[in-house]
Amino acid sequence: MSGPDAAGTSLLPGTGTNGQQTTLGVMGGGQLGRMFVQAAQRMGYFTAVLDPDVASPAGLISHYHIRSDYSDQQGLAQLIARCAAITTEFENVPAPALLSLGAQRHVAPGADAVAVAQDRALEKRHFAWCGVPVAAWTLIETRAQLDGASDELFPGILKTCRLGYDGKGQVRVADRGALAPAWAELGGGRCVLEKQLALAAECSVIVARGADGVCVNYPVQSNLHRNGILAVTSVYDGNIPSELAAQAIAATKLVAEKLQYVGVLCVEFFVLEDGSLVVNEMAPRPHNSGHYSIDACDVSQFELQVRALAGLPLTQPRQHSAALMLNLLGDLWEPRAPDFAQVLALPGAHLHLYGKLQARVGRKMGHLTLTAPGAGELLESAHTAAKLLGIAAF
Ligand code: ATP
Ligand code: MG
Repeated sequence: MSGPDAAGTSLLPGTGTNGQQTTLGVMGGGQLGRMFVQAAQRMGYFTAVLDPDVASPAGLISHYHIRSDYSDQQGLAQLIARCAAITTEFENVPAPALLSLGAQRHVAPGADAVAVAQDRALEKRHFAWCGVPVAAWTLIETRAQLDGASDELFPGILKTCRLGYDGKGQVRVADRGALAPAWAELGGGRCVLEKQLALAAECSVIVARGADGVCVNYPVQSNLHRNGILAVTSVYDGNIPSELAAQAIAATKLVAEKLQYVGVLCVEFFVLEDGSLVVNEMAPRPHNSGHYSIDACDVSQFELQVRALAGLPLTQPRQHSAALMLNLLGDLWEPRAPDFAQVLALPGAHLHLYGKLQARVGRKMGHLTLTAPGAGELLESAHTAAKLLGIAAF
């Protein structure tokens, strides 16, 4: 279905047929699903989450939790029965599942856009079609392609086309000799080999686009990754040169436009040492680098996800505070949970924990956003918070 409802009008909360509540659904019950649910509930919607995990962060707080596999026909039928419209919190939802949901309900983003974003080769081709530069790369699906990889791709990074996240499903390949073992390590499936670039910085842009083509954007986020996982995002005036920021925003809007995208989309970029911009990848959903928008902007990325799904107006977000986000990984729970009381004594500290029952190394347990009137105060409290939590200096 193309519009939020058959008539193409907005889906307002609490205005469903027969006096029922309007329920919005989400495929996936992780932290992104949880923050979507929180934004939807705040606006008066009921929510339904489909996730096999009994203790999924979003499932725990949703009105309805359908505990089934993402391809389970019965589970999908229950989601359809409950919901007026359905979104996704992760790109690895099987395409046929989204297609079957989309045949009966408004689904945003659509199956076509998600199919591109869930495959690294397809997304790189999409970027190229948009005229946005990507790192030199080649597709590796066969032994012959392995042998034919050009010399210019080394040293490189071999990445599985699908299902990679937080640096998983990637192996660095120093030279040609390391390629075959790396491919075997990744299971010998469909991969991309891309040139390893010397990065001066990393940044990302989040946009929300409506079915009417209106596209609004957040400011450019500056991101620090550690071990392939986002560690710190900062967003304040002067953090990114304005010309570079304008280029990144324009490229992201073009990527969304050319996908006829509806929903929230994040594009990640590399900044090279000569100051040029290269696109890394995209995520067809709110993004970890946009969590600061909950506390530092007048409308969060999750509220825009709700609005885009429900066909409500998208307004240009206004950042009212300088912001820095620290990801809280399970590592910090060793040997015991951090003492958040001390951190919360800092001005502008906003704690978000996702309700995960078990901490593991590298697992995203929550995040801490620090807000301040300007960069000086922000960095002071952020550095103190990091020190108190045992997060390495940045
Ligand atoms: P996530 O899900 O956290 O975004 P991911 O598993 O999808 O991560 P990528 O975004 O492809 O993986 O890579 C993770 C990080 O590894 C990047 O943010 C960057 O720091 C580094 N990286 C990836 N590709 C390259 C490259 N071609 N050159 C240099 N560094 C790279
Ligand atoms: Mg990434």
